[in-house]
Amino acid sequence: MGGEMVGELNVLNEWIPEQMQPGTIFVLENAGRVGEKEDPYWAVLSCPDCGTLGLITRKQLAGLLPVICGSDQCSVQFFINDSDIVIRKPC
Ligand SMILES: [Zn+2]
Repeated sequence: MGGEMVGELNVLNEWIPEQMQPGTIFVLENAGRVGEKEDPYWAVLSCPDCGTLGLITRKQLAGLLPVICGSDQCSVQFFINDSDIVIRKPC
């Protein structure tokens, strides 16, 4: 099986920080207007492994680029595939 874990994204429609459990995504109100023009920031995602919040870009959300957790204690890498989280490299 290659040791891959798959989780499911939990979409929040309202910004409620207490509900940002690991694997939760919240699309920014100003999605597409912040960051690089080619690949703007799109959403806030809590790491499916450690729960650290990080900004992800449009290409990451589209599954074109991997998401790498920003926490010092966690180096998990994963792809977003529709509503699935596909772990590429666990901690
Ligand atoms: Zn993490």
